[in-house]
Amino acid sequence: MSDHKARKASADDLLAETLSRMLSEHFTDIPNPEEIEVGVGRRSRRRLGTVRRGPNGPSITINPLLLLDGVPEYVLDATMAHELCHVVHGYGTLHRPKHPPHRGGRVTAELRARGLHAMTDRADAWIRSQWTNWYETHAADLAAARTARLEERAQMWRAFLGQPGVRSAQDLYRWSDALALRLSVQPIRGVEWLHAGTRQRRLSYCRTRDWIVLLHGVLAHASVPESVLRYELAAWLQYLTTRHDRGTHFSIEQAMSEHEIAEAQHWRRYCWSRFRTKHSPG
Ligand SMILES: [Zn+2]
Repeated sequence: MSDHKARKASADDLLAETLSRMLSEHFTDIPNPEEIEVGVGRRSRRRLGTVRRGPNGPSITINPLLLLDGVPEYVLDATMAHELCHVVHGYGTLHRPKHPPHRGGRVTAELRARGLHAMTDRADAWIRSQWTNWYETHAADLAAARTARLEERAQMWRAFLGQPGVRSAQDLYRWSDALALRLSVQPIRGVEWLHAGTRQRRLSYCRTRDWIVLLHGVLAHASVPESVLRYELAAWLQYLTTRHDRGTHFSIEQAMSEHEIAEAQHWRRYCWSRFRTKHSPG
């Protein structure tokens, strides 16, 4: 057997063994477990495993970077268990549910109900502390390509945001602080323009790492109504105030006039999608 074939065979064996162990120890309630397939998937920075409908039943694929020597066994076990929870919920079966697979923390609840939370917590801790480095070491080519893509995107956004007439991050700060002052609540810690990629389709995001609010960069365009920006900021200020200062609550109506709210909501609903496509750089 060639080296490559031998490696592939041992990866397949490892996956088959992990699947059957998980099934017999923790998922004995799955009907027709013999129909579940498992195979080596693609290297990925974000996806450790997937499940979809195969020719005969659910088909699970596992990120090959998890099969390399040096990844603790419990990380592979936890990934397999995670995908099997999706199968329990109907994904990969003929009764695929319509709701998003992780809604309401249902996978976490399922793992807990099966007594798998300690293993999962351990695996999560490994992923949090080791995964980025592991990925950058063992998929250096993909990591380099990603860095180049991000740098190219950042350059495009810097050019876009540097144009004359485009709103600045200072404008955002000014509005955000004025809102907080008016409502007598803590101001938003920071507001920045997001160098958005094509998959980032919302008007704004909040980075939970440091609670910085990010507004889609294309909203800096001078033709976006000011009310739209103020509405985004007011909504985040409301969210963050409720979250960090329990008991304090205000409504958007206290922050903005009825007319402004109506204008912002109309623009978000009817103009945003087309505007984003038309004006985003790149
Ligand atoms: Zn999942």
